[in-house]
Amino acid sequence: MSNLFPTYAKFPIEIVEGKGTVVKDANGKEYLDFTSGIAVCNLGHCNEAVLTAVQHQLTQIWHTSNLFESSIQEQVADKLTAGSKRAVFFCNSGAEANEAALKLAKKHTGCDEIITFQQSFHGRTIATMTATGQGKIHEGFGTLLPGFTYLPYNDLEALEQTISEQTAAVLLEVIQGEGGVIPATTEFLQGASALCAKYGALLIIDEVQTGMGRTGKRFAFEHAGIEPDIFTLAKGLGNGLPVGAMIGKAELAESFGPGVHGSTFGGNKIAMAAADVVIDHIFEEAFLAEVAEKGAYFQALLAEQLPGVVIRGKGLMFGIELETEAVEVVKSLQEVGVLTLTAGPNVLRILPPLTVTKAELEQVAEKLVVVLKKQEMGMKI
Ligand SMILES: *Cc1c(COP(=O)(O)O)cnc(C)c1O
Repeated sequence: MSNLFPTYAKFPIEIVEGKGTVVKDANGKEYLDFTSGIAVCNLGHCNEAVLTAVQHQLTQIWHTSNLFESSIQEQVADKLTAGSKRAVFFCNSGAEANEAALKLAKKHTGCDEIITFQQSFHGRTIATMTATGQGKIHEGFGTLLPGFTYLPYNDLEALEQTISEQTAAVLLEVIQGEGGVIPATTEFLQGASALCAKYGALLIIDEVQTGMGRTGKRFAFEHAGIEPDIFTLAKGLGNGLPVGAMIGKAELAESFGPGVHGSTFGGNKIAMAAADVVIDHIFEEAFLAEVAEKGAYFQALLAEQLPGVVIRGKGLMFGIELETEAVEVVKSLQEVGVLTLTAGPNVLRILPPLTVTKAELEQVAEKLVVVLKKQEMGMKI
């Protein structure tokens, strides 16, 4: 019997080793990991450069608390905000980053109302769960935080009718990840940004899954040419070490002074050593261009062999719409040595490491085509 709370339905596979895209289970079976541990190991498993930096930091000092100066925190913040006047708050997870963003928005605007969107996902703490626009995630938790409104995603008119001077923030994902890999339209993102400016509400973009190169840009909002007031990062930032960040425009700093918010572990030196190297690699223009190119290549491979397939996403973040249960396809792919995810009941989610090779993309495309055809998974046309 397990002594763990059964909060996750687990597959009966234990992964014990990994290098790049390839992982090995306890029985020695190899898989191509097209989950990256849910968009976390963006530079592949046990990335050498990250390993070297973390190993070095482990020999220096691990933790000092945020009551002392940290030049590595300053350095990582400097790299994350390159080219813009912004400030960074470091924490340990996506939920914590969004929690910080919501607190900052309330504190800075003096308002309580927060607008989020249906099918969104923002985390599991009380505030971020409340922000999540999915009834099944709210179920059984009694009274949630007041002030939240859930609008249909990509519906600018609904936003225009709801936003007001009482709105503290509009919180959204550029591509809804857990909700089904659903991209926002450029028009919606630009419209939301303009409406926030008009009413003095803060635009918060949750880049926890889409950030750190996943879509072929540093941050997915860059595709739309907008400048959110706040954005949040976590998953891919430490390549597997727990680290999150809330990044806001510099003028918001006055609302987050000493004693207003904090985290014991946030920005600890081990996590920072990892993030420092991750940023150096991912923010290279040539690297980002390759992510975009490999993503287009994989999409084209699938579209060619599965005519009519509905495949959404950008860069190396894909959702394939199925007419049957996505978890069944995930299990069939596991049998042939490929790890994938679901996003809702009928969407197969694919998040390979950004370092994936073309040969690996070809192998997985081939296996995916066989599995989908063999199971006669009718594609939505
Ligand atoms: C995973 C995720 C979160 C929550 O991150 P945790 O690190 O699990 O707290 C929040 N927002 C989005 C978009 C995510 O994908």
